[in-house]
Amino acid sequence: MINFRDLAQALMPQLVAWRRDFHQHPELGFEEVRTADIVAAHLRNLNIETSVGVGKTGVVGLVRGSGPGPTVLLRFDMDALPIQEQSAAPYASQRPGRMHACGHDAHTAMGMGVAQLLAHTREQWPGQVKLLFQPAEEGLGGALATIRDGVLTNPRPDAAFALHVWNQAALGTLTVQAGPFMAAADRFEIEIIGHGGHGAAPEDTIDALLIGAQVVNALHHIISRNIPPHETAVLSLGSFHAGNAFNVIAQRATLSGTLRTFEPAIRNTLIDRMGQVLEGICTAYGASYTFNLIEAEYTPAVRNDPRMAEIARQAASNLFEPQQIIQIRPMMVSEDMSEILNRVPGCYIMLGAEPETGALGSHHNPKFDINEEVLPLGTALMAQIATHFLLDGTSAASPTLMI
Ligand SMILES: [Zn+2]
Ligand SMILES: [Zn+2]
Repeated sequence: MINFRDLAQALMPQLVAWRRDFHQHPELGFEEVRTADIVAAHLRNLNIETSVGVGKTGVVGLVRGSGPGPTVLLRFDMDALPIQEQSAAPYASQRPGRMHACGHDAHTAMGMGVAQLLAHTREQWPGQVKLLFQPAEEGLGGALATIRDGVLTNPRPDAAFALHVWNQAALGTLTVQAGPFMAAADRFEIEIIGHGGHGAAPEDTIDALLIGAQVVNALHHIISRNIPPHETAVLSLGSFHAGNAFNVIAQRATLSGTLRTFEPAIRNTLIDRMGQVLEGICTAYGASYTFNLIEAEYTPAVRNDPRMAEIARQAASNLFEPQQIIQIRPMMVSEDMSEILNRVPGCYIMLGAEPETGALGSHHNPKFDINEEVLPLGTALMAQIATHFLLDGTSAASPTLMI
């Protein structure tokens, strides 16, 4: 087996330069034109077959090894967030209201490093590595867009892996665990339609504000009274707007929020109960309502395939000490890598990247930053996982297991 640790460490200055350049020039989902151009030029320089415009602004590189064999997909996301960076770093965002506040700049730089390591070692492993530089991970459906554009065909991947830097965990710690890992996410919107009127004559109105307040209370009882205690679910309301004058009873109230679940049955229970609660309260007060679950923004749960998690763990054990491989509880955040993992067995990995001074801001915070020492670690890890799967992992994929 090739050990990519030293090869990746030698790339450190280049990885940092790439990451800082992307950090200074953040691009939102489906707008990653400059980023994609840099990635595509790098892949072509390495003589890697390169497709651009995959899922609008995605880039796919296919690195061919020494001969026929399976295909493994590695995914790196590229998009930034609509956040104004608060940083004195020399590499702070140069674009107002745009920031790499989740670390996808680091992922893109790592992906370029992985491309280089794999291109230079291609005689030493069989099969193909498909490098997906994905647009629009931050809630915009980038993974699904690349799937619709055929990223899972020609050739179809036999395995898929992705990692995320994590600045709340010690540098070099990582997770490679099987089973549920990140929650499914739903977005919902509610509108309550009452009958507005004079604040001095409530008897002539149907007060949408008051009904909204009842709904807020009742919705928060669903988790505690209808979901079994051993299951995991979140129902959070993020907005509630009603009325705009002190002496006018509100005609309408609007609410929005998110659901987080792991099991489809639990998700269905939540949705059903929300509908019943709305129907009951609005009927009691004589109001009407709309309840809109935005299916187009649904993100499934991330589930790591046990065999792929084991392959990732074996590969990681060549680079990391056993105590660096940590076990964490499933997270309630979501990730659209789940769209790929629902179709291809794989594993999603978190890699600790806490700055030496401690993190000033968590992910999606204006003060977010990472420890750049994570760049060669992630680069080596992904190259190691891909080649470990191609050289050794496929022997575990006995045909008898694939009935
Ligand atoms: Zn994020
Ligand atoms: Zn992210």
